[in-house]
Amino acid sequence: MLGRRPLPANDDGRLLIAGNWKMNKTYTQAVNLAQEISDRARREWASVADVVLIPPFTALRGVSNVIAFDRSFLRVGAQDCSPHQQGAFTGQISVDMLTDLDCAYCIVGHSERRGLLGETDADVAAKAAALEAAGVTPIVCVGEDREVYDRGATVEHVVAQVAGSLGGVDISTGGIAVAYEPIWAIGTGLVAAPDHAQRVARAIRERLASMYGDQQARRARVLYGGSVKPGNVAAFIACPDIDGALVGGASLKADDFCSIVTNACDAARA
Ligand code: PEP
Repeated sequence: MLGRRPLPANDDGRLLIAGNWKMNKTYTQAVNLAQEISDRARREWASVADVVLIPPFTALRGVSNVIAFDRSFLRVGAQDCSPHQQGAFTGQISVDMLTDLDCAYCIVGHSERRGLLGETDADVAAKAAALEAAGVTPIVCVGEDREVYDRGATVEHVVAQVAGSLGGVDISTGGIAVAYEPIWAIGTGLVAAPDHAQRVARAIRERLASMYGDQQARRARVLYGGSVKPGNVAAFIACPDIDGALVGGASLKADDFCSIVTNACDAARA
């Protein structure tokens, strides 16, 4: 049992800062952005944070080439994957295709996919299982809409999403990151209050502990996402159960993204 003592953040204390470029940037623009970020990346980030660039599928090779050429500690990740290994699934991208392009992380269950494409918790769990089988870390997105938030039902909603999106998934190979992203904060400029985000992050970690045991729960990284900017990231990183950020809009500008990583690393060291 977890007892009353607050859990520390993940065991090794490393942050995970991931930039989700969504359906932005052509191949050429993505390579240029990756190069700008690589040029500005600071050595000292590497001792504190894993920093992941998540471009569209079409730019994965170009971004991973920039990272490899620069011998950078930056990592590359994908925005989604198929739960299937191969075959007649037109338009889908398998986990093997992603690992062949050096993807170490993959977002699953982003609210845009849940909302626009009807992805269910069961769909997300199948994708997370496929990633785990290949040792890729899923970044599982969960979060409530405004109506749930206004009713004060966020924790129950999010905890149920965690249970459903990881139902039956063994997380011992790839590890796990769970991104708490209130839907009303995504791309809106609104941010969750850090104490609200901490309460939800703590509930996520407790749920992971009841599913996988304390050790795995302490290894998990719980992220906040939703209008993260250079000026607000430190307040989230200061929360004991928040181990990083999933950044959308602000990851499309090298200066903003690099300031977010620098400010997050400074907050983690403080
Ligand atoms: C996201 O889409 O995951 C996200 C957090 O976007 P933004 O930072 O733009 O709110």
